[in-house]
Amino acid sequence: MRTAFGFLAHRMVEKLPPRPEGTAESTPPPSPLPLPLIACDGPGEVHLFRPHESWVTTCGPCHREQQRAHWADLMARAEAHPAPPPPTWRERVASEIQANEVASGYGTRATAT
Ligand SMILES: [Zn+2]
Repeated sequence: MRTAFGFLAHRMVEKLPPRPEGTAESTPPPSPLPLPLIACDGPGEVHLFRPHESWVTTCGPCHREQQRAHWADLMARAEAHPAPPPPTWRERVASEIQANEVASGYGTRATAT
């Protein structure tokens, strides 16, 4: 062996199995059959589209429009009824202490004296 290229060329020519005759080149790999055109569930005129999945019922633009409307609805609801601010850690600790005192009665001044 004199060069890496010579070594590789020798391996490629001598060691690889013979090329299969006329099968791989002539026929491309079978692609999955495209789904048939279906009517879109979206608003507006009836229009057909080809779904990319069997469970899809709306075309791309209509689906995006639905998502936008859904998001706008969520945002409007969140603005109309904002969640109450979470209690601060002082309030949470105070409520925990109160709950413990009520539950056990242990450690209060009334029982200690
Ligand atoms: Zn559509």
